[in-house]
Parts: sequence; structure tokens; C-alpha cells
Amino acid sequence: MPAPVPEPDAGQLAADAGDAEVDLAVTQVLAAVTTVQEDLTARAARAEGTAAEVLGVTAAMAADPSLARDAVGRVREQRAAPARAVWEAAGVVVAQLEALGGLMAERARDVRDVRDRIVAILLGLPAPGVPDPGHPFVLVADDLAPADTAQLDPERVLAVVTRGGGPTSHTAILARALGVPAVVAVEDALDLRDGETVLVDGGQGTVERDPSPADVEAVVAARGARRSRRRFDGTGRTADGRRVELLANVANGSDARDAAEAGAEGVGLFRTELCFLGRTVEPTIDEQVAAYREVLAAFPGRKVVVRTLDAGADKPLAFVTPDAEPNPALGVRGMRTSRRHPEVLDRQLAAIARAAQAESADVWVMAPMIATPDEADAFVTLCAAHGIEQAGVMIEVPAAALGARWVLARATFGSIGTNDLTQYTMAADREVADLARLSTAWQPTVLALVGAAGSGAALNGRPLGVCGEAAADPVLAPVLVGLGVTSLSMTARALADVAAVLAATTAQECEDLAFLALQQPTPDAARAAVRAQLPVLDELGL
Ligand code: PEP
Ligand code: MG
Repeated sequence: MPAPVPEPDAGQLAADAGDAEVDLAVTQVLAAVTTVQEDLTARAARAEGTAAEVLGVTAAMAADPSLARDAVGRVREQRAAPARAVWEAAGVVVAQLEALGGLMAERARDVRDVRDRIVAILLGLPAPGVPDPGHPFVLVADDLAPADTAQLDPERVLAVVTRGGGPTSHTAILARALGVPAVVAVEDALDLRDGETVLVDGGQGTVERDPSPADVEAVVAARGARRSRRRFDGTGRTADGRRVELLANVANGSDARDAAEAGAEGVGLFRTELCFLGRTVEPTIDEQVAAYREVLAAFPGRKVVVRTLDAGADKPLAFVTPDAEPNPALGVRGMRTSRRHPEVLDRQLAAIARAAQAESADVWVMAPMIATPDEADAFVTLCAAHGIEQAGVMIEVPAAALGARWVLARATFGSIGTNDLTQYTMAADREVADLARLSTAWQPTVLALVGAAGSGAALNGRPLGVCGEAAADPVLAPVLVGLGVTSLSMTARALADVAAVLAATTAQECEDLAFLALQQPTPDAARAAVRAQLPVLDELGL
């Protein structure tokens, strides 16, 4: 993955440049524009579905003659160097589109994309964005933004290896949802060379260079076998029949349909912000209703927990999050954005209520990043004003876990976000590769907070889910149940394994395992102690 294209210096052609040099610079600009235009058109023709649409729009932007005309004018009249001329000409178009607002402002992103492609050619840099070598490949990147990851095509990107990021970063979560093996926080990732063969094991977090042909063959065979393994029968329960709802985390209609296909009992976390990543303006209510209905339609009569926008930190949305914050993860994100932008939350709840009316799913709504009972109460009141009865909260800030007995007094349910709960308990940014070792929900202190939330939920008689990545860990799942969790929500791919382990473990055993884990000083010790009590894991090959 090439580095982003830098802004070119405010360079000029040489002061004594003659007509021939100016003509040459103009030719370079026009040739670069044509190359980009042809490349995008060819790629749009090869792509399918949304990718084809996106590329088609970008190709149309590249074909707009006003950008080239303005850039050529700057070369001729101001003697601007070619790359600089294109950069500035694109800046004018971007400003015009952004001033128009609405959907036009969204097109500014396409203009920037076209600009970067042209400038890359002029500066002799690789084309920006996910490369297109014409065959499937392992994508190696310094880091990947969630917006880039969401657009990866699993047919072409076989695996992802990044130097940055943490195991619960949104990049890792999105890759997992796509079924693309990903290993993050690989210190020497950038030493990998174009064309070399690597084995990437997303489950173990390993990258093997230069594997033997026999190893490659074995991995390909194992991959086929894994695909045809277990299925989930659609009802989560312990060995003695205690129900544990097994739900799916989704980001859009296509995820939801896959989840329904995999037997998910419903949706435990619909991350609505992921529908609108990269958007500079708020989606209209109609647009939101359409996006939400697609997810609800996949689960008629079933529970779907819709989370209101969790914008901020690595998922900024320009229309709600502040531009620059010293500590974005500790800043104005999630529910906190509604202080300055109450109208955005209000319109989102209106859209969710409309979508719920139009579909038959049992719609529950929850707010991210709740820290206090007052915030929870305010959210419940707002939901009630929109006729939404099931109004719950994410428990992902330690204060909410410790204060669950008060936070869940009015909220009708809780859902523990172990990704953020771990980040805030350990004071370890989930995006920072160097801290990846701290970022595990196996930390006994994190488990203690899950237990505190469990007690607070039980005191109020509220259902309590886990929707962080921890829910997808088949070894941890029984521990979470033992700590008082009543449902688990995960990537649909994990359902069958988690269901199989739970089905082999009684409720009492879950409680014993939770007690055992809490007695351990370290995550490794906790995991080892629990594993040792669960022989079913070996039987299942987990
Ligand atoms: C979490 O924090 O665990 C969670 C589920 O929310 P997100 O990963 O979207 O922050
Ligand atoms: Mg979270």
C-alpha cells in the first residue's frame, strides 16, 4: 500500500524557462490526466457492483475538462510546476463542491482522489490507494484506515499485514468481518518485498516468509477444510440449556444477510457509523432509513440492536467530530458528539424509528461511550420521544461498568464493548501497535469490570450483552457467560465455534471458569487456566 501522495512544493518552472519547456510541462499535465482517466475507466469496466459505481464516478471526475484547463492555465500563466498546478487547480474544484454542501460536497473526495493519482504520475510516485496488480495478493501497509479496509475485495486481497494498528482496531475488525486474514503490529512488515510468498495466519497472528511448497500446500488444504466445518443451528445455549443469545455484528445490509445465512439469532451490534465513513456531510434521513432498512430486512421478527453513530477517534465523521483533538480516544466521540450536535442524533433516531416502522425486526437502540447515569437517562428520554422503547447503552468506559447498577437503572439493556473497555482500563490506545500486548480482554482487570457490569445488570434485571471482539473468542465466551453476560454478538464467522464450546459447558462450569480467570494475575495465565479446564477446545480443534 503506497504512502499517501504528499502536497507538492509550491515549485515554479525555472525563471528562464522557454516556450519549449512550458509546452513540455503542459504536455506532461495533459498526459497524466489522460492516463488517470483511462486507467479509472478501464478499472470501472472490470469491477462489479458498488466498486464499479465508485470507480465510474471517479473516472467521470477525471474526465471533467475544467480541472485540466485550470492546471494548464497555471502552468502557462503562473509558470507553476506541473504537479503544483494540478494540486492548486483541484483545490479550487474541492472548495466549490464543499461550498455547495449536500451530496455535491461528497464529490470533493473523488476530486482529491483524482488529484492524487495525477500528481503521483507527475512526481513519479506509485498510484495511491489499494494497488491493482491484476492478480490476488497480500496487502502490506504501514497502516490502513477503516475506510480503506471496508472497501477491500476479499477475492483479490488474500490477507493484510500492517506495521501499525492493534488487534481490536477497527481495521482489524473490518478485515475479520470480510473474512480477510489480518496480522497487525508486525514490526518489520515493511521489509516484505513485492513478489515474495508469505503465509499469513490471522488466527495465530503470524507471518511466515519464504515458506516451503509443502507448507503452502498444507495451508491451502487446511483452508478448504475449515470452510466446510461446523454450522450454527441458530440457538445458543449452555450444555444444561441456559439460553445465551448468539448475535452478529454488522456494518451494512450485506453483512446482515450473511449473518442471517450463518444462523445468527439477530444483530447485537449494527455499527451505523460504518455506513457513512468518509462522508463529509450528514446523510439525509431518507438515506439513513434506506441503509437501516436493509439491515432490519435481513432479520424479520428478530432482534436488531442499532447503535447510534459512534464517530470519533479512528472513525471521524466530519459533520459531528471536532477537527483536531489532543487525545481523540479520550475526546468528543460517540454519544459525546451530541452535546454540540443534538440535531444529528435527533435525526438519526427519527430515521431509525421510521426504518423500524417499515420493517418487522424487533429494533433495540443503544448509545456508544456512555459514562454516567445522566447520559444514559438523557438517551432513554430522547429515544422515548421517538417512540423507541428498547433504549440501552454500551458499557465500554470503566465508569459505566463500575456504575452499571445506576447506568442500567433506566436504560433497558446494556452491551459491553470490550474493545474500548480494554483500551480505557489499560490506558492503551487500541490503534497503537506497540501497545498491542496490553490490548486483550483476557486482562483479569478487564474481566473484573465485566463482572461488575454483570452484577449491575442483574440488580436491575437487565439483559447484558458483549459485542466487542472478546465475544468471538471461543475460549473466553464461557467466562463471559459466567460473569453474568446473557448474549454474545460477534462476526458471523465466529458463531459456530462459540456455539459449540457453549453447548459443551454447563452454566455452573461457566461460573467456575469466570472465578478461575479472575484469580489469575495475567492474561496469559487466565487463558491457560481456562483452556486447561475446557478439553472440548481440543476436541473441536480450537
Ligand atoms: C467496543 O468498543 O468493544 C465496541 C464493540 O465498539 P467499537 O469497536 O465500534 O468501538
Ligand atoms: Mg467501542
